[in-house]
Amino acid sequence: MLINTILNRVQKFKSFVYGKVNWIDAGGVPELEIEVLARANSRPVCSSCGRKSSGYDRLPERRFEFIPMWGIKVFFRYAPRRVNCKHCGVHVERLPWSKGKRQLTESYAWFLSGWAKRLSWKDVAEVFHSTWDHVFCSVEMAVDWGKKHRDLSGIKAIGVDEIQWQRGHKYLTLVYQIDSNSRRLLWVGQNRTIKTLLTFFRGFGKARSEQLEYVCSDMWKPYLKVIKKKADNALHILDRFHIMTYLSKAIDEVRAQETRTLKEKGLEPVLTKSRWLLLKRPENLNEKQESKLAELVQYNLKTIRSYLLKEEFQLFWHYVSPYWAGQFLDKWCTKAMRSKIEPMKKVARMLRRHKPLLMNWFKAKGSFSSGIVEGFNNKAKLTTRKAFGFRTYYAAETALFHTLGALPVPETTHKFF
Ligand SMILES: [Zn+2]
Repeated sequence: MLINTILNRVQKFKSFVYGKVNWIDAGGVPELEIEVLARANSRPVCSSCGRKSSGYDRLPERRFEFIPMWGIKVFFRYAPRRVNCKHCGVHVERLPWSKGKRQLTESYAWFLSGWAKRLSWKDVAEVFHSTWDHVFCSVEMAVDWGKKHRDLSGIKAIGVDEIQWQRGHKYLTLVYQIDSNSRRLLWVGQNRTIKTLLTFFRGFGKARSEQLEYVCSDMWKPYLKVIKKKADNALHILDRFHIMTYLSKAIDEVRAQETRTLKEKGLEPVLTKSRWLLLKRPENLNEKQESKLAELVQYNLKTIRSYLLKEEFQLFWHYVSPYWAGQFLDKWCTKAMRSKIEPMKKVARMLRRHKPLLMNWFKAKGSFSSGIVEGFNNKAKLTTRKAFGFRTYYAAETALFHTLGALPVPETTHKFF
């Protein structure tokens, strides 16, 4: 079977035919070069308006990289024609396998971007003897296409989240769709200010915002303000994951302070190496950690009292009746205020301030998956962390959309992987 026969099966272009196949030794690296020819009686298509037009002249031959085969690089070789278009003037013709000045064929770009969902960009470049830039351009193409073709209708529930990005206090704001039938990243923006989230709502549009039934977010003030203004019809829920994170952070603070005080007093450093133990749920502790916890409890330390307060707070989420949940919340806050532990008091004050929003949790129960924002948060952090090549915000945004956006891909006659 000839290579042309296979190519005609997997990648046939109207108005073009495959010509000679040449074996090239590019400095010890084998390459296949396949000539592409325009059909004798075909008229070129203007790349600007898409109309058929009369030919003007021919540009020098160019090479377009296609999907490698058996570890051999494959290129199409073609000399693009220029058209003299009645509407647009002299333009290069439209090529069905590649757009603009791109070196990669679209099939190869889709191939690389597909692998970039499973492997890091660096790994993809290495495995296919490509470059980071080529992988990036491919992912960029896939994300552009996907965003243009995605369906944003029927979105009922969204979650607003932030992740820290790069060093220092730099943040990204992420908006997810969290409906049970469709979960994906919808939007990414720099910072976590009022302006950031307003930009999302502006792009999302008034009609879609009015259809939102649930918005889930952190207690971060700028978010609360914007959500109130832009998604007033929706039930605003504070995310369980974020609230528990505040409590974990408070414990961390108490523990660090207490470790210092104990050291100053020359007491045995009972708290060192206890950090992970105190951030875990009791059911996730191993035997050794369990006995360490039992030992710690005896000291009646602030850290341990904070830990127990946090564990007690978990009960809140399991209430069925909003009334009793409210009672529980009040009692818990009083207890935390009396603990004389400042970081815990701070959380209690914050929870009191946001009681009405906290209670919305019970109104929304079962309407969407509450763990979904946490899951996305972890994946988003992993994506930005894994990608040390993302020096620019744009590259990070592209990577996030690629991995979390559930973006559509075009239908093709042949699946290359
Ligand atoms: Zn034209």
